[in-house]
Amino acid sequence: MPVYVVGHKSPDTDSVTAAIAYAELMKAKGEDYIPCIQGKPNPETETVLKRFGAAVPESLTDATGKKIALVDHSDLAQAPDNLSQGEVVAIVDHHKIGDVTTNNPIFFWAMPVGCTGTVLKVLYDLEGVAIKPNVAGMMMAAILSDTVNFKSPTCTDADKKAVAELKAISGVTDTDALFMEMLKAKSAVEGVPAMELLDRDYKDFDMKGKKVGVGQLELATLDQVASMRDDLYKAMQEKKAGGRHTVLLMLTDVVKEGTDLMVASDEPALIEGAFNAKLQGNSMWIEGMMSRKKQTIPNLQKAFGL
Ligand code: MG
Ligand code: MG
Ligand code: MG
Repeated sequence: MPVYVVGHKSPDTDSVTAAIAYAELMKAKGEDYIPCIQGKPNPETETVLKRFGAAVPESLTDATGKKIALVDHSDLAQAPDNLSQGEVVAIVDHHKIGDVTTNNPIFFWAMPVGCTGTVLKVLYDLEGVAIKPNVAGMMMAAILSDTVNFKSPTCTDADKKAVAELKAISGVTDTDALFMEMLKAKSAVEGVPAMELLDRDYKDFDMKGKKVGVGQLELATLDQVASMRDDLYKAMQEKKAGGRHTVLLMLTDVVKEGTDLMVASDEPALIEGAFNAKLQGNSMWIEGMMSRKKQTIPNLQKAFGL
């Protein structure tokens, strides 16, 4: 019976390329692992897959009756549906440990680094398995994406070391150029429906029984969404109406290194308190905020009393 390797919902480049890279590693060890994706690749991921000649992995959204390896998450809310009707056999991740539980011992490999691609690089080295050049290129692209070209506070020395080594394996000469190519693809917002933009990089979290959703758009400049703010806010309210206490959208200016945080919440004052900022209309600028995982979520958890 094969093991299906899958990243989180609203898949980002790391969750897709990590599924591919981990499946490749296990195949090299003679195991039957199949990379999967929950849903469709985002424009950045499409660019990366095309650039390194990889096919879009097969879709998997329901775990019923399947053996599953989770990459880039361990939260039930982000995992395939009916996970308890399947069997999780491995988790490879770089986030806080989530709420997935298992009945049997599993392979659990997590490190506090900027990207699952970095965790996998360490794992490949440990297993003594050579990384194929195109797989190395995809792992490297994921690290550049997750660490925002090393600018995110989530970036560690291990991520920089992994990129240097993967660069040599992949034969890519200019990682800045690769990052800009990815940023261009990911920040192309014109003509895209607001709900699709909100969903592009979106995660739900449980905050003491309250459902809180956080989306993020990484932009070269906030001007890119200036004319779409009303529509984005409407999409946030629509999502919030689906049983959520709060929906946030991080409009992250990658060049200025800060985030304009759009807020739709039952308790806006709680969100203001979480970030020590004041809403102007339905958003507030937070200098230096780049990372949902390391900045937005921990502040929210504190504010919600977790
Ligand atoms: Mg991810
Ligand atoms: Mg990641
Ligand atoms: Mg990300």
